[in-house]
Amino acid sequence: MTPSKAGLAPGSTIGIIGGGQLGRMLAIAAAQLGYRCHIYDPHAAPCAAEVAASFTRGSFDDAAAIAGFAAPCDVVTYEFENLPTGPLDALGDKLRPGTRSLTVTQDRAAEKRFLDAAGVRIAPWAEVDDEASLAAAIDTLGLPLLLKTRRFGYDGKGQAWVRSAEDAAAAWDAIGRRPAVAENGMHFAGEYSVITGRTEQGHATAWPVSRNIHDAGILRRSEVPPGPPIDAQVADAVAVAAMLAERLGHIGVMTVEFFACTEGPVVNEIAPRVHNSGHWTIEGAMTSQFEQHIRAICGLPLRDTGLVAPQVSMDNLIGGDVEQWDALVAERGAHVHFYNKGEARAGRKMGHVTRVG
Ligand code: AMP
Repeated sequence: MTPSKAGLAPGSTIGIIGGGQLGRMLAIAAAQLGYRCHIYDPHAAPCAAEVAASFTRGSFDDAAAIAGFAAPCDVVTYEFENLPTGPLDALGDKLRPGTRSLTVTQDRAAEKRFLDAAGVRIAPWAEVDDEASLAAAIDTLGLPLLLKTRRFGYDGKGQAWVRSAEDAAAAWDAIGRRPAVAENGMHFAGEYSVITGRTEQGHATAWPVSRNIHDAGILRRSEVPPGPPIDAQVADAVAVAAMLAERLGHIGVMTVEFFACTEGPVVNEIAPRVHNSGHWTIEGAMTSQFEQHIRAICGLPLRDTGLVAPQVSMDNLIGGDVEQWDALVAERGAHVHFYNKGEARAGRKMGHVTRVG
């Protein structure tokens, strides 16, 4: 990419790999800044494509198709981390963030090694490749353990609890007998995430932190401010997130999920992208996570991340929740977002609602 000193000019083209709701909200933010977005996704009609200037359908491992998609783009970014990195390596500096952010975060074992090397607090863990290494993990770490597939896990999928040695075989079957990590079940007072934006020059900003409330592994609600005891950990957690973004050389928005444990912040995982727990920033912060990501990858200055009101909440519309659309659009003060993803299957994120103040 050869941006001017001021960054990419309006009218430039941003390639977005992945056409889900995150790509859709990135494309909307980019359009406001005058950029044209080109979506790349394997599906026939991804929800980001309908708000973007152009769309290429192709598979994530098709190096030639990705090269062809990227050629007319001024910069290329991604909206999710489970991408083969081979075809992306060829994009060099045009890809922001780079492939290092992907290789570390798309494999839970690589991510935990990275976190250990960075010296941050994480749940004690072990690699599990078969039933013997799971038995060894139970011996070394103790119970309960949460078994998580190394790759392709999201929204609590690819996870199984091992609460007694007798659960081990069933848990190993439940995750499909795939390479995994086992980690100790943590006691925490709450979950929260630090979302940070970082420029190529290393300038970083973070948003106020939200308390994240999950149900069956899926984020249901984010609340800002997070209240006690999370608020007392925020400064430490923000410093951890900034340090991790720096070590990855990450350009763009990155999210670090934490457990609020009595010993302090414990990192759960990193997402090298905008995050569901930051959707509230669209109306609740001076700058949204989506605009900040676009600014960072286009070489524009980052903007203020402060709150616009003392309290903000975001509720996900999951599966059939979206059927209340008529009541939601009639609610005064509710900022409603529908993603137009088609069938409202159970567990599918169909939209969200933000309430400010
Ligand atoms: P993850 O996909 O790793 O974000 O896990 C999904 C959810 O499972 C988290 O948001 C937590 O609620 C829960 N969870 C994950 N890891 C642990 C752990 N080590 N101990 C207790 N709960 C966990």
